[in-house]
Amino acid sequence: MKYIGAHVSASGGVENAPVNAKAIGAKAFALFTRNQRQWKSSPLTKKSISLFKERCEAFGYAASQILPHDSYLINLGHPEAEGLQKSREAFLDEMRRCEQLGLDRLNFHPGSHLKQMDVEDCLARIAESVNWALDQTSGVCAVLENTAGQGTNLGYTFEQLAYIIDRVEDKSRVGVCIDTAHTLAAGYDIKTAAGFTETFRHFDEVIGFSYLRGMHINDSKKDLATRVDRHDSIGKGVMGLTTFKMLMDDPRFDNIPLILETPDESIWAEEIAYLYSI
Ligand SMILES: [Zn+2]
Ligand SMILES: [Zn+2]
Repeated sequence: MKYIGAHVSASGGVENAPVNAKAIGAKAFALFTRNQRQWKSSPLTKKSISLFKERCEAFGYAASQILPHDSYLINLGHPEAEGLQKSREAFLDEMRRCEQLGLDRLNFHPGSHLKQMDVEDCLARIAESVNWALDQTSGVCAVLENTAGQGTNLGYTFEQLAYIIDRVEDKSRVGVCIDTAHTLAAGYDIKTAAGFTETFRHFDEVIGFSYLRGMHINDSKKDLATRVDRHDSIGKGVMGLTTFKMLMDDPRFDNIPLILETPDESIWAEEIAYLYSI
């Protein structure tokens, strides 16, 4: 079963996210559980939490169909002590919000070295941050997202993600989310059938499908190996439809949230219906 959905708005409260997902015919959704552009956020209210759970149950969204995304400010590989501590505290708060909402995974961007650290030191630091947060929580898996490799963002090769996973103590609580647009921009040619097959053979060898906890399904405005992160609507970017057909036909992408982060939310319902039709 493919669980396709989109990153829906949680404005007015997390309890609105399942409503917004249902309205577009989504079988999965992503959300921010706090303001993604601010460090401070008020705690979730009891009312929000119970309404969120009630609605997810009523609309048929199990935890395995929901992929919360953390704040863009967090950098778990921050080179400076203060920035690192702030990021770790915020990430822990995000994990605890997931626990409160009964969610089992939290999607995050691995981190950036900001030209002040070696790549490997930064990756090791990210793993330490994950270990620190996992030690203080339970039941929530830390889901590393592959990046386009823009700026000093790490996690753009499967080897970098594997390097982090290797250093996470509890392997049952670490996973990955693969974004199709980031994958292409990072240099993996998933535009052709042969390229798609080879990329995911390599993914399975280096990381392993057992770690795959979600996908971001985006077309890209930027082409292969540009290292620039610009999403486009399905079929409107450089990707072509082969990528999405391959994905829909492949049972290795079953039973995980497949989330659109495409720019035109007014056509999300169409994009979801289109993906199910192929
Ligand atoms: Zn992301
Ligand atoms: Zn992106």
